[in-house]
Amino acid sequence: MYFNIPVKIHFGKNSIKENKKELSSFGKKAFIVTGKHSAKKSGALDDLLEALNTLSIEFILFNEITENPNISSIEKGSLILKQNNCDFIIAIGGGSPLDAAKAISLMYANNLNKNNIFDNSLHKSALPLIAIPTTSGTGSEVTPYSVLTNNETQIKAGFGSPLMFPKISFIDPKYTISANKHITRDTAVDALSHLLEGIYSLNHADFLQPLIFKGIELIYNYLLPCLEEPDNYQFRENLMLASTYGGMVIAHSSTTLQHSIGYPLTTVYGLSHGMANGVVMKNMMNFYEPHLDNRLNKLFEYLRINKQDFFNWLDKLDLKFEHHITEEFLTARIPEVLNSRNMAITPVKVNEEQLKKLYLQLNH
Ligand code: NAP
Ligand code: FE
Repeated sequence: MYFNIPVKIHFGKNSIKENKKELSSFGKKAFIVTGKHSAKKSGALDDLLEALNTLSIEFILFNEITENPNISSIEKGSLILKQNNCDFIIAIGGGSPLDAAKAISLMYANNLNKNNIFDNSLHKSALPLIAIPTTSGTGSEVTPYSVLTNNETQIKAGFGSPLMFPKISFIDPKYTISANKHITRDTAVDALSHLLEGIYSLNHADFLQPLIFKGIELIYNYLLPCLEEPDNYQFRENLMLASTYGGMVIAHSSTTLQHSIGYPLTTVYGLSHGMANGVVMKNMMNFYEPHLDNRLNKLFEYLRINKQDFFNWLDKLDLKFEHHITEEFLTARIPEVLNSRNMAITPVKVNEEQLKKLYLQLNH
């Protein structure tokens, strides 16, 4: 057993403003990685720029990261970084800009390209990374993972390296207030998925249980109220705590088949990452349950509900798959799921037939 989250976390309102001086130790020029709008809309970019200005830290802004970041944008970012000689990287956004910044850092520092970025043996160094999340979902600000999509092959896949842990994460729940209902719901369901996968994973560990149970309890109690009252800071803080716990959990237990089964639903059918996890959540729970040595029952005892109550609550979130799984999809996509790195820590040895069945359940 071990517990290792080598990330300094500043959690709470105004965490950048109150701790900004720590940025000085990373150098005089920052490379800022964001998506198109959310960094600004959330208020995080303004807070950061004010801090950098006070500290006389120069910056280059690369704001071209889109949802499910594609590998070519990592190459572009890494090239711009090279041309500008920055000392460290600051990522603001949901999981997409955070994951992109991690990959840009590795690509730049090790002179990699889109064909060899996933090769762990080539990951020797990285630039220091500061993470500022604007969603309560991926937990990327406390994980060593990055998930990238190859737009040519439509294959989405994650990889991990301890070098990708951020040095500092400024986690301020107020940045999530600008997220609309869909983003709030879908990202919370992603966090829920991470927490549940801490129960499912073959790398499950007792010392993660308090984080898992508390995180799930927070989402169960506060997601629906937060959707009703999106400006409520306390609700936002509770969801952000849950996603931080979820990130800490998967940093140890990793995600499982539940995540890999969702990736093609995103690349082929366009479901958001959280929705892709959400639409398979009930079926995956039923599928895994016989192999979990009573661990799910312990969760439900803690929540003082049963599985059906949990499913009824999930139904209220209105997670729907409004497409049709086709034979072509199954033939084309099942191999990448069977080959995904998550399969190794999935509690059930899954064959092609079982996987087909899991996908086809989405048609009902
Ligand atoms: P995202 O893809 O980063 O962002 C989704 C959308 O939400 C974008 O349109 C974004 O706008 C917008 N947005 C983000 N924050 C906002 C805010 N505060 N206010 C308004 N709009 C906001 O979403 P995500 O769910 O956080 O990240 C998903 C990605 O992370 C997936 O690729 C997934 O596979 C990956 N992931 C990574 C890990 C990990 O451990 N590294 C774990 C799970 C998932 P902009 O485009 O303008 O930014
Ligand atoms: Fe996820």
